[in-house]
Amino acid sequence: MALKQVLVTGATGRTGALVLQKLLQHPEEFNAFGFARSQAKAQDLFGSVDRFFFGDITAKDTLTAALEGCHCLVILTSATPRMKAPPAPGERPEFEFEPGGMPEAVDYQGQINQIDAAIAAGVQHIVLVGSMGGTQENHPLNKLGQGNILIWKRKAEAYLIDAGIGSGVDYTIIRAGGLLDQPGGVRELLVGKDDVLLTQAPNGIAPSIPRADVAEVVVQALRCPTAKNKAFDVISKPENDATAIVTTDFAPLFAQTTPDL
Ligand code: NAP
Repeated sequence: MALKQVLVTGATGRTGALVLQKLLQHPEEFNAFGFARSQAKAQDLFGSVDRFFFGDITAKDTLTAALEGCHCLVILTSATPRMKAPPAPGERPEFEFEPGGMPEAVDYQGQINQIDAAIAAGVQHIVLVGSMGGTQENHPLNKLGQGNILIWKRKAEAYLIDAGIGSGVDYTIIRAGGLLDQPGGVRELLVGKDDVLLTQAPNGIAPSIPRADVAEVVVQALRCPTAKNKAFDVISKPENDATAIVTTDFAPLFAQTTPDL
């Protein structure tokens, strides 16, 4: 099997770090690198910065060296809202984004920078992890810090699909439900489209999924031809759900997914 060189951006993030760790466990299959802003954070998480490139996705040129020779790019960057200050009793918390870190800059232009730089470098497959809720303009997450984060993420997804058609690069767009820091590999995963699982999940289950399971979906998408040129929502049944058949074979899961937004 030919070794695949993969760059994971957002590799010091909560899901990105899990993806990079998983890829590094298979050196016979993946020559994996992370892209991050903070050397200190990479050192803390990985005990070394040997597998890292450093830069900022809002400065496109900083991606060039990291993408050289890559077959695949995994995009796991995201703007992250933070609370302004603890709210007074009875008041709602207010949120903001760090300076230069608004969703338009990070989730739209920053993702476009990554897609364009990857195509220029000859990358063949881009896996983009985004979020469910992008069809809902009035989704509460769009109000946080007046960032319209889900709207910008969705626009970047559309850009990737168009860029794929124009350049021949394959895409896989994984739109996760609410992320949980819980163990992976113990749940049945469900895929859908257009946020239907937000309101019509079977048995009214919460539209959520462990970050570890999202990371596994990313790794399997890099392996599985049926994940190419697909965009889908993904959630999980609760752990120990009586109706669940734990997902271990990903080809049938990807076979249920479809191209386009
Ligand atoms: P996360 O921990 O917030 O990580 C985001 C990463 O992006 C961080 O590593 C951050 O770097 C990096 N980043 C931000 N701006 C950057 C820039 N300008 N240049 C380079 N890197 C930059 O992510 P997560 O919570 O695991 O979420 C993964 C994805 O799932 C995101 O797209 C998120 O929106 C989506 N999602 C989240 C939820 C949820 O419930 N939270 C639900 C569904 C989908 P630093 O490490 O330096 O901060």
